[in-house]
Amino acid sequence: MVTVNDNYLKLPGNYLFAEIAKRVKAYKASNPDADIISLGIGDVTRPLPKACIAAMTEAVQEMGEATTFKGYGPEQGYPFLLEAIRKHNYLDHGIDIAADEIFVSDGAKSDCGNIQEIFGQESRVAITDPVYPVYLDTNVMAGRTGDLQADGHFAGVTYLPCTEENNFAPPLPKEKVDIIYLCSPNNPTGTALSRAELTKWVAYARDNEAIILFDAAYQAFITEDDVPHSVYEIPGAKDVAIEFRSFSKTAGFTGTRCGYTVIPSSVKGRAADGRLVHLRSLWERRHTTKFNGTAYIVQRGAAAIFTPEGEKQVRANIAYYQENARTILAGLKKVGLTAYGGINAPYIWLKTPVASWDFFDRLLQEANIVGTPGAGFGPCGENYFRLTAFGDKERTKEAMERIATRLHV
Ligand SMILES: *Cc1c(COP(=O)(O)O)cnc(C)c1O
Repeated sequence: MVTVNDNYLKLPGNYLFAEIAKRVKAYKASNPDADIISLGIGDVTRPLPKACIAAMTEAVQEMGEATTFKGYGPEQGYPFLLEAIRKHNYLDHGIDIAADEIFVSDGAKSDCGNIQEIFGQESRVAITDPVYPVYLDTNVMAGRTGDLQADGHFAGVTYLPCTEENNFAPPLPKEKVDIIYLCSPNNPTGTALSRAELTKWVAYARDNEAIILFDAAYQAFITEDDVPHSVYEIPGAKDVAIEFRSFSKTAGFTGTRCGYTVIPSSVKGRAADGRLVHLRSLWERRHTTKFNGTAYIVQRGAAAIFTPEGEKQVRANIAYYQENARTILAGLKKVGLTAYGGINAPYIWLKTPVASWDFFDRLLQEANIVGTPGAGFGPCGENYFRLTAFGDKERTKEAMERIATRLHV
């Protein structure tokens, strides 16, 4: 009989969101009239910008005419989108990235998950705790870790604890690591790395021949000047960093699907025989072999984000979520709860007076609000709780009123 990839068996089930759904269902069954507000979703709710809709509608029409029909496109992305990304997200910010260093894809989750394929099996991986689960799980699947230990950590992985004590900025590892996943602004903590913090990591990567995998999915939410939007704002990063970006949280593309990965041609790794190899070439090989390009219609929609109207509409959507974040932060402060994040990200990371799952139950039962227990993102997430700013404005306000009047903190 066929054998299976045993590494998959090391992974626990998708316990977090299944457990949340189970508890909400049970509560609803015994309280059918409860009006539940979800501040747990990691998905946008505002519709796509009008400029994107107009561009995609036009692209649909093009697909219906023999003279403008498009079949397979370039795997790396259409030049019109690559050039728009290069100009608006890099050149205009003083960062020189070439169009052929950008790879358009169906989203940052796939890229963050697939990138590990181009690294050697023995490469040591460092992730933060708490963490966006994709970085860890894909390395488990690939066999780059041992088993899950009793402490909730996988053997063979370097965990970087992000806590109140270090302001949720990951400390440099004690042992030498090869691959470092950094997410800033961060999901789930909602905090972001300052220029000084990121500079420290670039220096570490340069000194230790390590690679930084920088997930900037939430860069559009940055409000503070001291927080880099791109890892390449740090001098020297172009030799040691790969950057992931997404139109999902920026422009509401979670269901439309478009993102991209930047690999400068100066980023290198070492082959078994000691030769230096361009990571960009390996990723290009992978991308062209396993991916057949993002839909033309979607790429037209993504490019419209960079038009003046598109930019204005995107800013309005982000501002809507940012107002929710301020509402949540103010609401929590009012009842004396300590909360972090929410300033450069759509996530608020609050400190729970009880264990995070107990807080989940109390918030659900007393205020009929659903959030995400921090423990689900890693052991260091215990005693924290994630609320998101992606909800409806009025419902978010209502949730904060309920916390003030119904929750026994
Ligand atoms: C939402 C999210 C992404 C983006 O995923 P897409 O596949 O582009 O929708 C990437 N990284 C993090 C940390 C996220 O939360």
